[in-house]
Amino acid sequence: MVAIPARFTRAEEEHWVAVMTKRVLAKERRRRPSDTGLAAAADRLAATYLPPDVRPTSVSWVTNQGQRWGSCTPAQGTIRISHRLQGMPSWVVDYVLVHELAHLVVGGHGQDFWDIVNRYPHTERARGFLHGVAYRDSEGGPGSDEEPDVD
Ligand SMILES: [Zn+2]
Repeated sequence: MVAIPARFTRAEEEHWVAVMTKRVLAKERRRRPSDTGLAAAADRLAATYLPPDVRPTSVSWVTNQGQRWGSCTPAQGTIRISHRLQGMPSWVVDYVLVHELAHLVVGGHGQDFWDIVNRYPHTERARGFLHGVAYRDSEGGPGSDEEPDVD
């Protein structure tokens, strides 16, 4: 809600609403990181930790991932990251990106997969963090000791 003091003239009112709207939108943008920013992070991480020339075709935030933090379609080179990661530390988001990028090279979670993902120095810490979040969200109910699902 934007409260407008009663004594405002119409011109002042329009000016005030424009100023407030701009502020609210700027705040929204800060709160919701863009797909562009996410794709830039993925490119930077791929260049650092993945074999040469591994690049996703698209990386996007999605709100329909259910319990998964991230998912990858290797045939299309597309990566989707859960909006639930927004607001978490950047090294956690980066881990999920590295995880999904690694699936562009290796399917499944065998040793060759982890050999790539473990090149990212915060992998163990980020997995622990996500495990903690999943445990909190499950409130200690059934399945709470399962590995968080980074697909
Ligand atoms: Zn995976």
